Amino acid sequence: MGDCIFCEIGSDNSKAERIYQDDYCFVIQDINPITPIHLLLIPTEHIVELWDNQEKLLGHLLVVASKVAEQTGLKANGFRITINQGKDGGQTIPHLHLHLMGGRELPWGTGF
Ligand code: 5GP
Ligand code: ZN
Repeated sequence: MGDCIFCEIGSDNSKAERIYQDDYCFVIQDINPITPIHLLLIPTEHIVELWDNQEKLLGHLLVVASKVAEQTGLKANGFRITINQGKDGGQTIPHLHLHLMGGRELPWGTGF
């Protein structure tokens, strides 16, 4: 859609290395990681908001998060999944996405 960076990345395989891809979503490394492993799970469809009637997709994204956590070695020690929704939630890209973060011990502090 339009000038959305995640739609652009999703439609161009050369833009970023995919950790995972299926019919509904893809996973890439965050360009500005705040943990040693910081991945973005992004629906291929341009969905802006968390509550956009997307029960099935959200469930799917969590299942994919679990798979990718296993793939990347995050499952053993744990990880954090975050969705930033709207301006006050810290969302900078208005295309729904999950952050999957880990690779170091808790506690992580209060940021993000
Ligand atoms: P938000 O703040 O919207 O929840 O998260 C957007 C995330 O996307 C940020 O963590 C930011 O570092 C990441 N990001 C922004 N532009 C790009 C990009 O072009 N490529 C990748 N891989 N990540 C990006
Ligand atoms: Zn988009």
